Amino acid sequence: MNYLIRNAVGIHNDSHPGATDIRIRNGRIAELGWQLTPSAADPETLVDASGCVVWPGLVNTHHHLAQSIMKGVPEGLNQNLGDWLGSVPYRFWPKVTPELMYHAARLGFYELIRSGTTTCADHHYLYHATTSPELEAAVWQAAEELGIRLVLCRGSATETGSHEGMIEHRIEPETIDQIIDRLDATRKQHHQDGPDAMKKLVVAPTSLIHSSSPEGLKAQAAWAREHGLKMHSHLLEVDFDEIQAREKYGQSAIDYAESCGWLGDDVWYAHLVHSDAHAIERLAATGTGIAHCPTSNCRLGSGIAPVIEMQKAGVPISLAVDGSASAESGSMLQELNLAWLIHRAVHGPEATTLEQVLDWGSRDGAQLLGLSDTGSLAIGKAADLVLYDIDQPRFAGVHSPLMAPLMCGEPVQVRDSFVQGRRLVADGRVAGLDEAELTAKVQQSVAQLLADA
Ligand SMILES: [Zn+2]
Repeated sequence: MNYLIRNAVGIHNDSHPGATDIRIRNGRIAELGWQLTPSAADPETLVDASGCVVWPGLVNTHHHLAQSIMKGVPEGLNQNLGDWLGSVPYRFWPKVTPELMYHAARLGFYELIRSGTTTCADHHYLYHATTSPELEAAVWQAAEELGIRLVLCRGSATETGSHEGMIEHRIEPETIDQIIDRLDATRKQHHQDGPDAMKKLVVAPTSLIHSSSPEGLKAQAAWAREHGLKMHSHLLEVDFDEIQAREKYGQSAIDYAESCGWLGDDVWYAHLVHSDAHAIERLAATGTGIAHCPTSNCRLGSGIAPVIEMQKAGVPISLAVDGSASAESGSMLQELNLAWLIHRAVHGPEATTLEQVLDWGSRDGAQLLGLSDTGSLAIGKAADLVLYDIDQPRFAGVHSPLMAPLMCGEPVQVRDSFVQGRRLVADGRVAGLDEAELTAKVQQSVAQLLADA
Protein backbone atom coordinates (compact mmCIF):
# COMPACT_ATOMS: atom_id res chain seq x y z
CA MET A 1 0.00 0.00 0.00
CA ASN A 2 1.22 3.50 -0.85
CA TYR A 3 0.40 6.57 1.23
CA LEU A 4 0.82 10.31 1.00
CA ILE A 5 0.74 11.99 4.41
CA ARG A 6 0.18 15.74 4.11
CA ASN A 7 -0.09 18.96 6.12
CA ALA A 8 1.52 17.77 9.38
CA VAL A 9 2.31 20.39 12.01
CA GLY A 10 5.85 19.00 12.02
CA ILE A 11 7.88 15.90 11.16
CA HIS A 12 10.80 14.87 13.39
CA ASN A 13 13.69 14.30 10.97
CA ASP A 14 17.20 15.55 10.26
CA SER A 15 17.34 15.95 6.49
CA HIS A 16 14.24 18.10 5.85
CA PRO A 17 13.66 20.43 8.82
CA GLY A 18 10.18 21.92 8.69
CA ALA A 19 8.83 19.27 6.32
CA THR A 20 5.06 18.66 6.44
CA ASP A 21 4.57 15.78 4.01
CA ILE A 22 5.83 12.19 3.65
CA ARG A 23 5.33 9.80 0.77
CA ILE A 24 5.38 6.04 1.53
CA ARG A 25 6.11 3.62 -1.28
CA ASN A 26 6.34 -0.16 -0.85
CA GLY A 27 6.94 0.07 2.89
CA ARG A 28 9.63 2.76 2.68
CA ILE A 29 9.85 6.52 2.94
CA ALA A 30 10.15 7.71 -0.67
CA GLU A 31 9.90 11.44 -0.18
CA LEU A 32 9.91 14.09 2.54
CA GLY A 33 8.99 17.68 1.84
CA TRP A 34 6.28 20.31 1.41
CA GLN A 35 3.12 20.39 -0.69
CA LEU A 36 3.79 17.02 -2.28
CA THR A 37 1.22 16.28 -4.96
CA PRO A 38 -0.63 12.96 -5.27
CA SER A 39 0.81 10.67 -7.87
CA ALA A 40 -1.50 9.97 -10.79
CA ALA A 41 0.54 7.06 -12.11
CA ASP A 42 0.92 5.20 -8.84
CA PRO A 43 -2.28 5.33 -6.74
CA GLU A 44 -1.82 6.20 -3.09
CA THR A 45 -4.04 6.74 -0.07
CA LEU A 46 -4.09 10.31 1.20
CA VAL A 47 -3.71 10.83 4.94
CA ASP A 48 -4.51 14.34 6.15
CA ALA A 49 -2.09 15.01 9.04
CA SER A 50 -3.51 18.43 9.94
CA GLY A 51 -3.19 18.93 13.69
CA CYS A 52 -0.69 16.07 13.99
CA VAL A 53 3.03 15.79 14.57
CA VAL A 54 4.87 12.90 12.96
CA TRP A 55 7.59 10.98 14.81
CA PRO A 56 9.54 7.86 14.07
CA GLY A 57 7.75 4.94 15.77
CA LEU A 58 9.04 4.35 19.28
CA VAL A 59 11.25 1.34 19.96
CA ASN A 60 10.80 -0.53 23.24
CA THR A 61 13.92 -2.58 23.98
CA HIS A 62 12.74 -4.56 27.03
CA HIS A 63 9.30 -5.86 27.96
CA HIS A 64 7.59 -8.84 29.58
CA LEU A 65 4.27 -9.11 27.77
CA ALA A 66 3.05 -11.92 30.05
CA GLN A 67 2.95 -9.38 32.88
CA SER A 68 0.26 -7.32 31.15
CA ILE A 69 -2.33 -9.39 33.08
CA MET A 70 -0.43 -9.00 36.40
CA LYS A 71 -0.72 -5.27 37.05
CA GLY A 72 -1.01 -3.92 40.55
CA VAL A 73 -1.09 -7.27 42.35
CA PRO A 74 -1.74 -6.18 45.97
CA GLU A 75 0.92 -8.40 47.55
CA GLY A 76 3.63 -6.88 45.35
CA LEU A 77 2.66 -3.22 45.50
CA ASN A 78 5.18 -2.17 48.14
CA GLN A 79 7.86 -4.84 47.75
CA ASN A 80 11.39 -4.64 46.42
CA LEU A 81 12.46 -6.57 43.33
CA GLY A 82 13.42 -9.84 45.06
CA ASP A 83 10.19 -10.14 47.07
CA TRP A 84 8.03 -8.83 44.23
CA LEU A 85 9.42 -11.51 41.86
CA GLY A 86 8.09 -14.19 44.22
CA SER A 87 4.76 -12.42 44.88
CA VAL A 88 3.89 -11.57 41.30
CA PRO A 89 5.63 -12.93 38.18
CA TYR A 90 6.88 -16.26 39.55
CA ARG A 91 3.64 -16.86 41.44
CA PHE A 92 1.53 -16.60 38.29
CA TRP A 93 4.03 -18.03 35.79
CA PRO A 94 2.86 -21.68 36.12
CA LYS A 95 -0.74 -20.54 35.53
CA VAL A 96 -0.09 -18.75 32.23
CA THR A 97 -1.62 -20.96 29.54
CA PRO A 98 -1.04 -20.27 25.83
CA GLU A 99 -4.49 -18.67 25.70
CA LEU A 100 -3.71 -16.32 28.60
CA MET A 101 -0.33 -15.54 27.05
CA TYR A 102 -2.07 -14.60 23.81
CA HIS A 103 -4.46 -12.15 25.51
CA ALA A 104 -1.63 -10.70 27.63
CA ALA A 105 0.48 -10.18 24.50
CA ARG A 106 -2.41 -8.51 22.67
CA LEU A 107 -2.97 -6.18 25.61
CA GLY A 108 0.73 -5.35 25.90
CA PHE A 109 1.06 -4.67 22.18
CA TYR A 110 -2.14 -2.62 22.18
CA GLU A 111 -0.81 -0.43 24.98
CA LEU A 112 2.51 0.04 23.23
CA ILE A 113 0.90 0.83 19.87
CA ARG A 114 -1.55 3.36 21.39
CA SER A 115 1.40 5.19 22.99
CA GLY A 116 3.30 5.39 19.68
CA THR A 117 5.44 2.24 19.61
CA THR A 118 6.18 0.32 16.42
CA THR A 119 8.85 -2.16 17.64
CA CYS A 120 8.85 -4.24 20.81
CA ALA A 121 11.60 -6.43 22.22
CA ASP A 122 9.83 -8.86 24.52
CA HIS A 123 11.95 -10.63 27.11
CA HIS A 124 9.80 -13.76 27.17
CA TYR A 125 11.00 -16.14 29.90
CA LEU A 126 8.17 -18.61 30.44
CA TYR A 127 10.33 -21.63 29.70
CA HIS A 128 10.85 -24.58 31.99
CA ALA A 129 11.63 -28.25 31.55
CA THR A 130 8.11 -29.10 30.30
CA THR A 131 7.20 -25.82 28.58
CA SER A 132 4.62 -25.97 25.83
CA PRO A 133 5.99 -24.39 22.64
CA GLU A 134 2.53 -22.84 22.27
CA LEU A 135 3.39 -20.27 24.96
CA GLU A 136 6.02 -18.72 22.72
CA ALA A 137 3.88 -19.21 19.62
CA ALA A 138 1.16 -17.05 21.21
CA VAL A 139 3.55 -14.07 21.31
CA TRP A 140 4.62 -14.43 17.66
CA GLN A 141 0.98 -14.83 16.62
CA ALA A 142 -0.21 -11.73 18.49
CA ALA A 143 2.58 -9.63 16.93
CA GLU A 144 1.89 -10.89 13.43
CA GLU A 145 -1.83 -10.22 13.72
CA LEU A 146 -1.37 -6.62 14.91
CA GLY A 147 1.57 -5.91 12.58
CA ILE A 148 4.06 -4.68 15.21
CA ARG A 149 7.77 -5.47 14.81
CA LEU A 150 8.75 -8.14 17.35
CA VAL A 151 12.18 -8.94 18.72
CA LEU A 152 11.65 -12.03 20.87
CA CYS A 153 14.35 -12.21 23.53
CA ARG A 154 14.23 -15.87 24.49
CA GLY A 155 14.67 -16.13 28.28
CA SER A 156 15.98 -19.19 30.08
CA ALA A 157 17.18 -20.54 33.41
CA THR A 158 19.42 -23.55 33.92
CA GLU A 159 19.35 -23.22 37.71
CA THR A 160 16.60 -22.34 40.20
CA GLY A 161 19.22 -19.97 41.51
CA SER A 162 19.31 -17.25 44.08
CA HIS A 163 15.86 -15.78 43.45
CA GLU A 164 13.42 -17.60 45.70
CA GLY A 165 10.48 -17.45 43.31
CA MET A 166 11.47 -20.41 41.14
CA ILE A 167 11.89 -22.76 44.08
CA GLU A 168 8.79 -21.59 45.88
CA HIS A 169 6.62 -22.06 42.82
CA ARG A 170 8.31 -25.32 41.73
CA ILE A 171 9.48 -24.11 38.33
CA GLU A 172 11.89 -26.67 36.96
CA PRO A 173 14.72 -25.17 34.91
CA GLU A 174 15.70 -26.35 31.43
CA THR A 175 18.94 -28.08 30.54
CA ILE A 176 21.34 -26.19 28.30
CA ASP A 177 20.67 -28.74 25.52
CA GLN A 178 16.94 -28.10 25.77
CA ILE A 179 17.54 -24.37 25.54
CA ILE A 180 19.75 -24.60 22.46
CA ASP A 181 17.44 -27.10 20.71
CA ARG A 182 14.38 -24.96 21.35
CA LEU A 183 16.24 -21.77 20.35
CA ASP A 184 17.23 -23.40 17.10
CA ALA A 185 13.67 -24.48 16.33
CA THR A 186 12.48 -20.89 16.88
CA ARG A 187 15.33 -19.47 14.82
CA LYS A 188 14.45 -21.65 11.86
CA GLN A 189 10.76 -20.90 12.09
CA HIS A 190 10.75 -17.17 12.82
CA HIS A 191 14.07 -15.31 12.76
CA GLN A 192 14.78 -12.89 9.93
CA ASP A 193 18.14 -11.27 9.31
CA GLY A 194 18.54 -7.74 8.10
CA PRO A 195 18.03 -4.16 9.29
CA ASP A 196 14.29 -4.16 8.59
CA ALA A 197 13.33 -7.63 9.89
CA MET A 198 9.76 -7.92 11.17
CA LYS A 199 10.71 -10.83 13.45
CA LYS A 200 13.99 -11.35 15.24
CA LEU A 201 15.21 -13.83 17.82
CA VAL A 202 17.63 -12.85 20.60
CA VAL A 203 19.40 -15.17 23.05
CA ALA A 204 18.38 -13.87 26.46
CA PRO A 205 18.97 -15.90 29.65
CA THR A 206 16.66 -14.34 32.23
CA SER A 207 19.36 -13.54 34.77
CA LEU A 208 23.10 -13.79 34.25
CA ILE A 209 23.91 -13.86 37.93
CA HIS A 210 21.03 -15.72 39.55
CA SER A 211 19.81 -18.57 37.38
CA SER A 212 22.50 -19.38 34.79
CA SER A 213 25.75 -21.32 35.03
CA PRO A 214 29.00 -19.94 33.57
CA GLU A 215 29.12 -22.93 31.18
CA GLY A 216 25.53 -22.34 30.08
CA LEU A 217 26.21 -18.66 29.46
CA LYS A 218 29.32 -19.39 27.43
CA ALA A 219 27.46 -22.00 25.39
CA GLN A 220 24.58 -19.62 24.65
CA ALA A 221 26.95 -16.77 23.74
CA ALA A 222 28.87 -19.01 21.35
CA TRP A 223 25.66 -20.28 19.77
CA ALA A 224 24.23 -16.76 19.42
CA ARG A 225 27.39 -15.49 17.71
CA GLU A 226 27.60 -18.53 15.45
CA HIS A 227 24.14 -17.62 14.15
CA GLY A 228 24.54 -13.82 14.19
CA LEU A 229 21.91 -13.33 16.90
CA LYS A 230 22.03 -10.56 19.47
CA MET A 231 22.18 -11.20 23.22
CA HIS A 232 20.22 -9.70 26.11
CA SER A 233 19.57 -10.15 29.83
CA HIS A 234 18.89 -8.38 33.11
CA LEU A 235 21.90 -7.01 34.97
CA LEU A 236 22.51 -4.85 38.06
CA GLU A 237 18.87 -3.93 38.54
CA VAL A 238 19.55 -4.06 42.30
CA ASP A 239 22.65 -4.35 44.51
CA PHE A 240 21.92 -8.03 45.08
CA ASP A 241 23.44 -8.81 41.66
CA GLU A 242 26.77 -7.35 42.71
CA ILE A 243 26.70 -9.12 46.10
CA GLN A 244 25.82 -12.49 44.52
CA ALA A 245 28.45 -12.16 41.78
CA ARG A 246 31.15 -11.53 44.37
CA GLU A 247 29.92 -14.35 46.59
CA LYS A 248 29.41 -16.94 43.84
CA TYR A 249 32.12 -16.01 41.37
CA GLY A 250 34.57 -13.83 43.34
CA GLN A 251 34.30 -10.87 40.96
CA SER A 252 32.08 -7.93 40.10
CA ALA A 253 28.92 -8.58 38.10
CA ILE A 254 30.31 -6.75 35.07
CA ASP A 255 33.63 -8.63 35.15
CA TYR A 256 31.72 -11.90 35.51
CA ALA A 257 29.61 -10.99 32.46
CA GLU A 258 32.76 -10.23 30.50
CA SER A 259 34.45 -13.48 31.59
CA CYS A 260 31.46 -15.42 30.18
CA GLY A 261 31.56 -13.60 26.81
CA TRP A 262 28.58 -11.46 27.70
CA LEU A 263 29.83 -7.97 26.83
CA GLY A 264 30.00 -6.64 23.28
CA ASP A 265 28.23 -4.48 20.73
CA ASP A 266 25.83 -7.37 20.15
CA VAL A 267 24.71 -7.31 23.81
CA TRP A 268 22.37 -5.02 25.76
CA TYR A 269 21.12 -5.22 29.33
CA ALA A 270 17.95 -4.10 31.03
CA HIS A 271 18.35 -1.74 34.00
CA LEU A 272 22.09 -1.51 34.92
CA VAL A 273 20.92 0.75 37.75
CA HIS A 274 23.82 -0.14 40.02
CA SER A 275 26.63 0.40 37.53
CA ASP A 276 29.75 1.88 39.12
CA ALA A 277 32.53 3.71 37.27
CA HIS A 278 34.26 0.42 36.40
CA ALA A 279 31.05 -1.09 35.01
CA ILE A 280 30.39 2.01 32.90
CA GLU A 281 33.93 1.89 31.58
CA ARG A 282 33.60 -1.78 30.55
CA LEU A 283 30.18 -1.23 28.96
CA ALA A 284 31.51 1.72 26.95
CA ALA A 285 34.73 -0.03 25.94
CA THR A 286 32.83 -3.05 24.61
CA GLY A 287 29.87 -1.19 23.08
CA THR A 288 27.40 -2.97 25.38
CA GLY A 289 24.07 -1.13 25.60
CA ILE A 290 21.36 -0.42 28.13
CA ALA A 291 17.56 -0.71 28.08
CA HIS A 292 16.76 2.07 30.54
CA CYS A 293 13.43 1.42 32.29
CA PRO A 294 12.82 4.45 34.53
CA THR A 295 9.21 3.72 35.53
CA SER A 296 9.89 0.15 36.66
CA ASN A 297 13.02 1.23 38.51
CA CYS A 298 11.01 3.91 40.35
CA ARG A 299 8.08 1.61 41.04
CA LEU A 300 10.27 -1.11 42.60
CA GLY A 301 12.48 1.41 44.40
CA SER A 302 15.55 0.08 42.60
CA GLY A 303 17.15 3.48 41.95
CA ILE A 304 18.00 5.57 38.88
CA ALA A 305 20.34 4.17 36.23
CA PRO A 306 23.34 6.49 35.62
CA VAL A 307 22.53 7.02 31.95
CA ILE A 308 23.92 10.55 31.86
CA GLU A 309 27.34 9.23 32.91
CA MET A 310 26.87 6.33 30.49
CA GLN A 311 26.04 8.66 27.63
CA LYS A 312 29.17 10.71 28.30
CA ALA A 313 31.26 7.53 28.35
CA GLY A 314 29.74 6.35 25.06
CA VAL A 315 27.43 3.54 26.24
CA PRO A 316 24.55 3.02 23.75
CA ILE A 317 21.29 4.11 25.46
CA SER A 318 17.76 2.93 24.71
CA LEU A 319 14.46 3.14 26.56
CA ALA A 320 12.02 0.45 27.62
CA VAL A 321 8.79 -0.11 29.53
CA ASP A 322 9.76 -3.38 31.28
CA GLY A 323 6.84 -5.63 32.23
CA SER A 324 3.54 -4.04 33.22
CA ALA A 325 3.60 -5.81 36.61
CA SER A 326 6.12 -3.12 37.60
CA ALA A 327 5.27 -0.42 35.02
CA GLU A 328 1.50 -0.46 34.99
CA SER A 329 1.00 2.21 32.32
CA GLY A 330 2.50 -0.04 29.62
CA SER A 331 3.33 3.17 27.74
CA MET A 332 6.58 3.98 25.94
CA LEU A 333 5.69 7.65 25.94
CA GLN A 334 5.57 7.56 29.74
CA GLU A 335 9.15 6.20 29.71
CA LEU A 336 10.31 9.05 27.48
CA ASN A 337 8.59 11.63 29.65
CA LEU A 338 10.06 10.20 32.85
CA ALA A 339 13.54 9.78 31.33
CA TRP A 340 13.43 13.44 30.29
CA LEU A 341 12.52 14.51 33.84
CA ILE A 342 14.22 12.17 36.25
CA HIS A 343 17.85 12.86 35.34
CA ARG A 344 17.22 16.61 35.60
CA ALA A 345 16.09 16.09 39.17
CA VAL A 346 19.51 14.61 39.91
CA HIS A 347 21.85 16.46 37.53
CA GLY A 348 20.11 19.75 36.74
CA PRO A 349 18.14 21.09 33.75
CA GLU A 350 20.87 20.62 31.16
CA ALA A 351 21.18 16.88 31.83
CA THR A 352 18.71 15.87 29.09
CA THR A 353 17.13 17.45 26.04
CA LEU A 354 13.85 16.50 24.43
CA GLU A 355 15.58 15.61 21.15
CA GLN A 356 18.12 13.39 22.92
CA VAL A 357 15.43 11.49 24.78
CA LEU A 358 13.39 10.97 21.62
CA ASP A 359 16.52 9.61 19.91
CA TRP A 360 17.07 7.15 22.77
CA GLY A 361 13.46 6.01 22.42
CA SER A 362 13.57 5.60 18.64
CA ARG A 363 16.79 5.69 16.56
CA ASP A 364 19.18 4.48 19.25
CA GLY A 365 16.90 1.65 20.37
CA ALA A 366 16.48 0.48 16.78
CA GLN A 367 20.24 0.51 16.34
CA LEU A 368 20.73 -1.63 19.46
CA LEU A 369 18.24 -4.19 18.18
CA GLY A 370 19.97 -4.42 14.81
CA LEU A 371 17.08 -2.65 13.07
CA SER A 372 18.99 0.29 11.63
CA ASP A 373 16.54 0.73 8.75
CA THR A 374 13.98 1.82 11.33
CA GLY A 375 13.90 4.33 14.19
CA SER A 376 14.36 7.52 12.18
CA LEU A 377 12.56 9.28 9.35
CA ALA A 378 14.72 9.63 6.25
CA ILE A 379 14.35 8.84 2.58
CA GLY A 380 14.95 5.14 1.98
CA LYS A 381 14.23 4.08 5.57
CA ALA A 382 11.41 1.72 6.49
CA ALA A 383 8.14 3.58 7.01
CA ASP A 384 7.73 3.05 10.77
CA LEU A 385 6.07 6.24 11.94
CA VAL A 386 3.45 7.67 14.24
CA LEU A 387 1.02 10.60 13.97
CA TYR A 388 0.16 12.15 17.35
CA ASP A 389 -2.96 14.30 17.32
CA ILE A 390 -2.01 17.53 19.11
CA ASP A 391 -5.10 19.42 17.97
CA GLN A 392 -6.48 19.17 21.50
CA PRO A 393 -6.85 21.63 24.39
CA ARG A 394 -4.00 20.22 26.48
CA PHE A 395 -1.48 20.68 23.66
CA ALA A 396 -2.81 23.99 22.34
CA GLY A 397 -0.68 26.15 24.67
CA VAL A 398 2.60 24.49 23.73
CA HIS A 399 5.19 26.68 21.99
CA SER A 400 7.28 23.72 20.74
CA PRO A 401 4.60 21.58 19.09
CA LEU A 402 6.93 18.93 17.62
CA MET A 403 7.92 17.82 21.12
CA ALA A 404 4.49 18.33 22.71
CA PRO A 405 3.74 14.60 23.26
CA LEU A 406 7.05 14.08 25.04
CA MET A 407 6.91 17.11 27.34
CA CYS A 408 3.17 16.85 28.13
CA GLY A 409 3.19 13.07 28.45
CA GLU A 410 0.13 10.83 28.67
CA PRO A 411 -2.66 10.78 27.72
CA VAL A 412 -1.89 11.08 24.03
CA GLN A 413 -3.89 10.15 20.99
CA VAL A 414 -2.03 8.29 18.26
CA ARG A 415 -4.21 9.07 15.27
CA ASP A 416 -2.37 6.87 12.77
CA SER A 417 0.71 4.68 12.82
CA PHE A 418 2.58 2.62 10.27
CA VAL A 419 5.08 -0.26 10.39
CA GLN A 420 6.92 -1.00 7.16
CA GLY A 421 4.23 1.09 5.47
CA ARG A 422 1.40 -1.05 6.87
CA ARG A 423 -1.20 0.91 8.80
CA LEU A 424 -1.44 -0.26 12.44
CA VAL A 425 -3.64 2.57 13.69
CA ALA A 426 -6.19 4.32 11.51
CA ASP A 427 -8.13 7.32 12.84
CA GLY A 428 -7.27 6.41 16.41
CA ARG A 429 -8.26 2.75 16.26
CA VAL A 430 -5.83 -0.16 16.38
CA ALA A 431 -6.56 -2.22 13.28
CA GLY A 432 -7.72 -5.78 13.87
CA LEU A 433 -8.55 -5.23 17.53
CA ASP A 434 -11.89 -4.71 19.24
CA GLU A 435 -11.24 -2.82 22.49
CA ALA A 436 -14.38 -4.10 24.24
CA GLU A 437 -13.49 -7.67 23.36
CA LEU A 438 -9.88 -7.21 24.50
CA THR A 439 -11.09 -5.79 27.83
CA ALA A 440 -13.38 -8.78 28.36
CA LYS A 441 -10.67 -11.30 27.47
CA VAL A 442 -8.19 -9.64 29.83
CA GLN A 443 -10.73 -9.58 32.65
CA GLN A 444 -11.37 -13.30 32.12
CA SER A 445 -7.62 -13.95 32.04
CA VAL A 446 -7.09 -12.17 35.36
CA ALA A 447 -9.93 -14.18 36.91
CA GLN A 448 -8.36 -17.39 35.61
CA LEU A 449 -4.96 -16.46 37.10
CA LEU A 450 -6.65 -15.97 40.48
CA ALA A 451 -8.99 -18.96 40.22
CA ASP A 452 -6.95 -21.30 42.38
CA ALA A 453 -4.15 -19.01 43.48
ZN1 LIG B 1 12.71 -7.07 32.96
